[in-house]
Amino acid sequence: MVSAELAPLAKTGGLADAVAGLSAALAAKDHDVRVLIPDYTAPPSGRPGAAAIEGGASVSPAESTPVPVYLIASPAIGSGGAIYLGDERDAARFWAFSRAAVAAAAALELESDIVHCHDWHAALVPALAAARPPLDAAGTVLTLHNIGFQGAFPRSVLPDDAAAFLASLDDEATGSRDWVNFLETGIRRASAVTTVSPTYAREIATPELGMGLDAVLRARGDDFVGILNGVDYRLWSPESDPFITPRFRRGDADGKRRVKRAVMTELGLADDAPLIGAVSRLFEQKGLDLLVDALPTLLERTRARFAVLGSGNPDLEAALSRAAKTWPERIAFRRGYDEGLAHRIIAGSDFLVVPSRYEPCGLTQLYALRYGTVPIVRKTGGLADTVTHYDPASGRGTGCVFEHADVTGLIWGVTTALEWYESPADWERLCRNAEGLDFSWQRQCEPYEALYRRVIERRRQRSPSA
Ligand code: ADP
Repeated sequence: MVSAELAPLAKTGGLADAVAGLSAALAAKDHDVRVLIPDYTAPPSGRPGAAAIEGGASVSPAESTPVPVYLIASPAIGSGGAIYLGDERDAARFWAFSRAAVAAAAALELESDIVHCHDWHAALVPALAAARPPLDAAGTVLTLHNIGFQGAFPRSVLPDDAAAFLASLDDEATGSRDWVNFLETGIRRASAVTTVSPTYAREIATPELGMGLDAVLRARGDDFVGILNGVDYRLWSPESDPFITPRFRRGDADGKRRVKRAVMTELGLADDAPLIGAVSRLFEQKGLDLLVDALPTLLERTRARFAVLGSGNPDLEAALSRAAKTWPERIAFRRGYDEGLAHRIIAGSDFLVVPSRYEPCGLTQLYALRYGTVPIVRKTGGLADTVTHYDPASGRGTGCVFEHADVTGLIWGVTTALEWYESPADWERLCRNAEGLDFSWQRQCEPYEALYRRVIERRRQRSPSA
């Protein structure tokens, strides 16, 4: 696995959880899995004892991880601790990481069958690996966790060696004369390409949601598939969650109520009303601006309280802070990144709202389900694949699914879900349906195993000596 993020060592979002969960599940099935990630905090000279590779880069094993992890340090990655700088400097950083990762595989003699690369940060690895033993014998898989992040840069900002390498590829049509696109190069070059839900796979193969890469994806035909992410239930279930007290057994409504009370106390809210949580990066994709706009209506029409944790867009952060100041008894907003509070809100809330404009898979709704926290989600991408709209007549369904990414859609979703909450029989049924689902990585890694086998088999057929 080659990735910019890996939970819990380096995490800004779902990528970190997905790579950690998939790697651990594969390792539990006796696959020999190694994970290569950048070392964002190494001193400029590298860690003591690290093995030098090339270009001033070095590699050292991380300590006490369940799956072996190698940390790739390089002066070009920097040592400030930031995972992403969010500007053109990231081109040189992740180029250096990708090049060093392939060199490290050679130094460590990793004779892999499969190199699984994640997102644009590692999307040049398939092309780099093809040029260098032992990875040139490996099949490559590229997973797109979010096509909104492509690593598109002006050629002029690339280090010379990166510019020369990209120019040497025969698909130089990638990007344009003046631009390169790391993700596009990866999509063209990997043996197979995946994304993190079947619906998102269909969506990004269309011009509406493909963000310019839909034609390149369609050209991959059957070699582009959607495989749903999974959950590591050791970290995300009421019986074993390391961040909630008291833990409780699935289905134990009193146990859940105690966690709800604790988190509402922590946030300064009274616990005599339904609680709607949200844990999210605060960017347009996630649609939390819709929640801000819907709040006046929702506060007037319902008795719900809201607990929001997130950070990102400063205007959205300010709007949420203002709302919390205006209605302190109804809304709590915590700005920032807080793993423990994320668990407590997801575990303790009655509902989790995920109003995304688009959503490749979405993990928080999967986590919520396990705690009997009912997801209220927009019908898009992985949200549409993992939550089914509750039907009081049949008693089937696991959450509330609304169609439109606008204020009216969200208000409809929240008020509909609150009606079920007020009906004890429906509420009981809905919570039991939700927490009964199984999205474990144990299950979700099976389609990856099948894909790996297909890729390996195809390579064998092409070069029988391999
Ligand atoms: P994305 O990767 O697009 O951010 P996902 O739903 O796939 O969205 O994954 C989000 C992950 O990040 C979840 O594990 C969620 O709990 C976590 N997360 C998001 N925002 C925060 C935050 N402010 N504090 C703690 N965890 C957060």
